[in-house]
Amino acid sequence: MKNLLADRVYRLSESETLAMTRMGRELKTQGKDVISLSIGEPDFNTPEFIKDAAKKALDENYTHYTPVAGFEDLREAVCFKFKRDNNLDYKPENIVVSTGAKQSLANVVLSLVNPGDEVIVPTPFWVSYSEIIKLAEGKAVFIPANIENNFKVTPQQIQDAITDKTKVIMFNTPCNPSGSVYSKEEIKSIAEVVAKYPDVYIISDEIYEHINFVGKHESFAQFDFIKNQVIVVNGLSKGYAMTGWRLGYIAAPKQIAQACNKIQGQITSGTSSISQRAAIAALNADPDKVDDMKIMVKAFKERRDLLLDLLKDIPGFKTNIPNGAFYVFPDISYYFGKSNGNHVINNSKDLCMYLLDTVYVALVPGSAFGNPDCIRFSYATSKDNLIEAVKRIKKAVSYLK
Ligand code: PMP
Ligand code: GLU
Repeated sequence: MKNLLADRVYRLSESETLAMTRMGRELKTQGKDVISLSIGEPDFNTPEFIKDAAKKALDENYTHYTPVAGFEDLREAVCFKFKRDNNLDYKPENIVVSTGAKQSLANVVLSLVNPGDEVIVPTPFWVSYSEIIKLAEGKAVFIPANIENNFKVTPQQIQDAITDKTKVIMFNTPCNPSGSVYSKEEIKSIAEVVAKYPDVYIISDEIYEHINFVGKHESFAQFDFIKNQVIVVNGLSKGYAMTGWRLGYIAAPKQIAQACNKIQGQITSGTSSISQRAAIAALNADPDKVDDMKIMVKAFKERRDLLLDLLKDIPGFKTNIPNGAFYVFPDISYYFGKSNGNHVINNSKDLCMYLLDTVYVALVPGSAFGNPDCIRFSYATSKDNLIEAVKRIKKAVSYLK
């Protein structure tokens, strides 16, 4: 008998960030006092001036289909943002706006990767990278970065991983889940390696651009010698606290932008007209002058410091200092082989399930991000929640012998 579903569904893993969030929610509906540090989304609301633009859009009847790649004036606003924030020159023809950066990433991978093509992915990586590559029937080539080198890969590692089958390198700075931020020099030396291979492309996921505690964001596209091999992915979900609005975008060489437009035109068309009008207001405002954004980033930095401090008190939780995004990714392999009654901890998933089942703290196993020794904390939540969560975790792990 034939399988009901297509093979691609069996090959695909469920998004672990969304799965842990779902499990946490289920326990909450059963009345359990769950603290969720699983989903990566700001706990702040979208700034008022952006919401006002959306209300205005409704009143002005922006309720129809839009151009597939987004309204022309939105794509102009994206170009304006690239010039203002990154000193990058793009034209609207280089821009495709999508239903979140997740769709932007999928569009680009589906546009570039043929079955069997290799895609280099530094680990740890964001959960959906490996699965989007599977959808394109590409072959992910993972290159490890561990806590000792701040979860960053070296140019030599990239050089060693490139073969004649390499098509794409997926890069993410600031990084989810490690919080690593690559410096200009680090990006430049990786770009110099890739520039030697003109048919290899870098997808540079810069969605956490504005959540950076060490200064200016550095984009791969800033180096002219590599710019036509770079596709920048960005969006409004994180920096502007707009996860539910579903708005991401790319800046790419024209031919790649056209390919993404073609794919998107057959799958979703343009993203919500109202979100697009709101995005124009968001992108036209200088982030350095938007108080809501500054307050949010300051709060994230304080919470990061608090969480790092609190985690120092848990034996066997080894952390580095994440310089961006809103995650801490401790190595917890110290607990492997230990148990408490029926709970045996052999991997990061076991530890996450143990903490969820016994003390109702939802985290995400590092295995979902390609590093089975770690677990991910999202600190996009209140300080009180962080203090209480760490207190519970400390108690729960103290029973593991
Ligand atoms: N890239 C990274 C690294 C992320 O963490 C996320 C999480 N939301 C995305 C892309 C996708 O963002 P969205 O679809 O909400 O724009
Ligand atoms: N990117 C967020 C996270 O890593 C949101 C969840 C998702 O889309 O996977 O938690």
